[in-house]
Amino acid sequence: MAIYYSSTRGGEKNVTASQAILKGLAEDGGLFMPDTIPVFDRSFSELAKMSYQEVAYEVMKLFLSDFTEEELKDCIARAYDSKFDTEEIAPLVKADGAYYLELFHGNTIAFKDMALSILPRFMTAAARKNKIDNTIVILTATSGDTGKAAMAGFADVEGTKIIVFYPKDGVSRVQELQMLTQKGDNTSVVGIDGNFDDAQNGVKKIFNDKEFEKELAAKGYQLSSANSINIGRLVPQIVYYVYAYVKLLENGEIEDGEKINITVPTGNFGNILAAYFAKQMGLPVGRLICASNDNKVLYDFFQTGIYDRKREFILTSSPSMDILISSNLERLIYLSTGCDAAKTRELMEELTRDGKYTVTDDMRERMADFSGGYATQEENAAEIKRLFDDTGYMIDTHTGVASCVYRKYVKETNDTAKTVIASTASPYKFSRSVMEAIYGSEEGKDEFELIDEMEKASGVAVPAAIEEIRNAEIRHNIQCTPDTMESTVDDILK
Ligand SMILES: *Cc1c(COP(=O)(O)O)cnc(C)c1O
Repeated sequence: MAIYYSSTRGGEKNVTASQAILKGLAEDGGLFMPDTIPVFDRSFSELAKMSYQEVAYEVMKLFLSDFTEEELKDCIARAYDSKFDTEEIAPLVKADGAYYLELFHGNTIAFKDMALSILPRFMTAAARKNKIDNTIVILTATSGDTGKAAMAGFADVEGTKIIVFYPKDGVSRVQELQMLTQKGDNTSVVGIDGNFDDAQNGVKKIFNDKEFEKELAAKGYQLSSANSINIGRLVPQIVYYVYAYVKLLENGEIEDGEKINITVPTGNFGNILAAYFAKQMGLPVGRLICASNDNKVLYDFFQTGIYDRKREFILTSSPSMDILISSNLERLIYLSTGCDAAKTRELMEELTRDGKYTVTDDMRERMADFSGGYATQEENAAEIKRLFDDTGYMIDTHTGVASCVYRKYVKETNDTAKTVIASTASPYKFSRSVMEAIYGSEEGKDEFELIDEMEKASGVAVPAAIEEIRNAEIRHNIQCTPDTMESTVDDILK
């Protein structure tokens, strides 16, 4: 069945998957949504016998219906290969009764690799399919992990350039070094004097500037986005929830059809939305537990039905979740209105104008699968330490938030359903925060000393992604303010 995409704000309809991937954001500022969410055409016991790559094909073919089988299988084979340090691609680790789904075995040791290893492949296939000769310029705002993962995916990919904006003082040292040492003649990194929301808003503004679009077109450029608003990122993220479920089934941890809960450390609401899509496709999922850090705008939203971004932006030890405007929530809003684009547009305009909006009781009822929770900085650190002391399993600060929220949820509800926790980054990426959570202050030690100590304590070898940056040359040093992002793009493309 052919699936077409429409903007959540009503301005575009009947867009093919490949066009939606190329565009990233819809012309009217909305997000592309499939007109229907497809359901599985394979049983879970069939899927259980498949490799990650095969499950990926079974999921992707349903959403990306204008790609041929050959195109999809080629994209998949080139994305999920030896870049990953395990053949399973996304292994499950059981610790203290929960299943940690490790999504950090790719190039840049964060879950963004799961989708960004394949997005560049989708884009080049989509450009060919749509006969596009322009150079595709990927503009991306990052809270720390997307930027590196996107550059790793797009570096030296013919017909593309990539420009990444990150909050200069809002990422971990490892995250920053990973970006600043990025190779590839087509990559640029810009530190902005602002937070992630400033970066994300700035990128959206550039996308909506029609004059600038024309100027770029005259020079043979066309913009696209690698942010999690791109449907080409959402779809690959559905795969690992399906894969986790069927592996639990294969390993006899659950019965066929048994409902599991899923807990996701959330920022831009992309990862957890993918889990929700998996549920809509027919995956037996009970509750979706949305875990926030101190920037608990989503927790408050699920508690009250009021989304209010007017609050202090807090820099935490889980920087990839330091976000007050969760872009992908717009897709859930759209679904909860019964796909009413006018209503969705109205709410999103309210958010821009007033900094908040309130959803109706009907809408809240349609979102009842979600539970919100949050963990403070201290609770997060305590959970990382507790889990390590009890089991020897070391988790990063984002997974720590999810783990903590999950344990609180069980205490409050006595819900004993088997639970998958999305483990979104390697602890090596946040070595200082993780080591300080376990051993107390590590002041005076440099990042790489801590990394070596982490290796001894965890028994997990230092990943290649870390070894790479130990002595790598700094290649990028552009900085700008939120107001000069567009002119910076112009300069880079000159
Ligand atoms: C991006 C990121 C998140 C948040 O994911 P969203 O899809 O933005 O909700 C959580 N943890 C890590 C490590 C990340 O990089």
